[in-house]
Amino acid sequence: RRLLEAVSHSLDAAGSEVSRYEQSLQECAAQLSTDIEADELRGLVTNLIASTQQVNAGHSALQQHLEESKKEADALREELAKVRIEAHTDALTGLANRKGFEERWRALETSEDFRDNPHCVLIGDIDKFKSINDTYGHLFGDKILKIVAKAFSNLTKGKDLAARFGGEEFIILLPETPLNGAVALAENIRKSIEKGRVFNPKTGEEVARVTISIGVTQLKHGENVDDAIARADEALYRAKEGGRNRVEVAAEAPPLRAAS
Ligand code: GH3
Ligand code: MG
Ligand code: MG
Repeated sequence: RRLLEAVSHSLDAAGSEVSRYEQSLQECAAQLSTDIEADELRGLVTNLIASTQQVNAGHSALQQHLEESKKEADALREELAKVRIEAHTDALTGLANRKGFEERWRALETSEDFRDNPHCVLIGDIDKFKSINDTYGHLFGDKILKIVAKAFSNLTKGKDLAARFGGEEFIILLPETPLNGAVALAENIRKSIEKGRVFNPKTGEEVARVTISIGVTQLKHGENVDDAIARADEALYRAKEGGRNRVEVAAEAPPLRAAS
């Protein structure tokens, strides 16, 4: 607003300058239409030159002001883009955060090819993460979160959308992916986390294995992603109940097309 006010002020000033100039041109024309002495003519031309220089100076100032304002506006735009990315990114893991995830899937959901293709959602939650924090400390827990996030980002590609959904919960939306593909990916993620070796930096000892439980579901035709997430969450709960370090698929196999 400050930028716009300053530019608007400069424009007003330049506008008044131009009006004054117009007026002096009109006065000049009126005088020229009568008989005029050489001295008067000289005076007239001198005045004209002075007012032309004045209006030119006003325009140069306006131009400079506009250029400065443009630079400032460009810098603001860049900063806004940076802040926007930051607001959509989880600072610890670099994955999209929940806001980034929601924004991107809403864009996907309204795209044309979303309607007729199968899409899946999977939610993973680190097993017994509280005890990792309690045993090795919160900072060490943060390191584990980063490692798990890496497994999620390394194994997703293209339109897949991985995000940190909450504390130790991760989510992936898999556009144009059938259920068997989503289950295979969930298994790959689970295995890659299970086989990771984590060492205690102080003692060099291997830390109790980090594992993850995952719930998977396919979106029903026309269903919104929130409902599918709730179903994936139920499957995740069953994976925990069933002993953890496992993948569970939501019970009902959803029809891709609604029955007509
Ligand atoms: P379960 O196998 O049932 O999922 O057990 P859990 O211990 O993983 O689940 P619970 O929900 O009891 O604990 C989650 C823990 O995650 C508790 C919380 O302190 C921790 N946590 C959440 N966010 C962060 C974080 O950003 N950094 C760290 N280090 N820990 C976090
Ligand atoms: Mg949890
Ligand atoms: Mg957990």
